[in-house]
Amino acid sequence: MMNLDKLLRDNIRNLRPYSSARDEFSGEAMVFLDANENPFNQPYNRYPDPLQRELKEKIAGLKNCNVDQIFLGNGSDEPIDLLFRAFCEPGQDNMVTIDPTYGMYQVAADINNIEIRKVKLKEDYSFVAEELLARADERTKLVFVCSPNNPTANLLDKAEILKLIYGFDGLVVVDEAYIDFAPGASLLPELGQHENLIILQTFSKAWGMAGIRLGMAFASPEIIRILNKIKYPYNINILTQQKALELLELEEEKNKWVELLIEERQKLANSLEKFPFVVKVFPSDANFLLVKMHDARGIYEYLVENGIIVRDRSKVVLCEDSLRITVGSPEENAILIEKLNDLI
Ligand SMILES: *Cc1c(COP(=O)(O)O)cnc(C)c1O
Repeated sequence: MMNLDKLLRDNIRNLRPYSSARDEFSGEAMVFLDANENPFNQPYNRYPDPLQRELKEKIAGLKNCNVDQIFLGNGSDEPIDLLFRAFCEPGQDNMVTIDPTYGMYQVAADINNIEIRKVKLKEDYSFVAEELLARADERTKLVFVCSPNNPTANLLDKAEILKLIYGFDGLVVVDEAYIDFAPGASLLPELGQHENLIILQTFSKAWGMAGIRLGMAFASPEIIRILNKIKYPYNINILTQQKALELLELEEEKNKWVELLIEERQKLANSLEKFPFVVKVFPSDANFLLVKMHDARGIYEYLVENGIIVRDRSKVVLCEDSLRITVGSPEENAILIEKLNDLI
């Protein structure tokens, strides 16, 4: 059983958070003289809603969850960092994750001086919950998994993730940044059943809003309260909140993008497989392909010379000689294939 209060760092449990003018009074009024704002240059003169209520209402409707189960951050990077800061005592606590996976977990752990224990995936990029649990001890506060995983592109087995959730008495973070490209696979519908589950999603991928920096964490109201307590008071600026509200009206557009990108993913995989220098295109549940090839570095450099940038992952464990290629527009994908054709 998880004891959230015991998991928390003492200084965070005892923290009296900053109380902003807008925390103390958030209703309608005729005259606001409480926050030392400039009365001119509306609407940017006003501090944004620290809890982003209007935006969360809309997201709650979209995701079929409650407003108090949502935290919004400056990209997913913010909740990742805040989780370390809330739960992991620098120099003492540790976290367990899979290898290879998204590089930000390591960076956030390093910044916070938290030991990171990596468990290598199987050759087929699956993971075994037991192996992660075996690496956890009484100082393990967080387990991070990423599904679909970056850079391996595969969904992780849901039954194994559930074993982690049931078998670990700390917090299990499931990063679902690419979940829109794997329809039906999100753990979000089960959020209410698991008090130690935190799900990360983002507007950076399927929604096409990487530029406005907006990430979501979904968890129990108790966990969300902790994140709210330690975040910067105005972490989501007015421009981002407004733009997100606008773009959320375009859900159909997003669904069309996702559908098209899934089709393009298959087409691109088919085209890539035909090249003699391609060893394997790994199955993908995301908007990118991991491609193993002879002389990946050479091909990477050739593409750079031709104005095409992909991600060289050949130094990453289990990704030897592999490039990570984002699925672009049909035109962009055609240019990539054309340039690779010139090689043969
Ligand atoms: C791209 C990505 C994110 C998104 O990060 P943001 O800070 O929200 O842009 C999160 N997790 C993984 C695994 C990613 O690949």
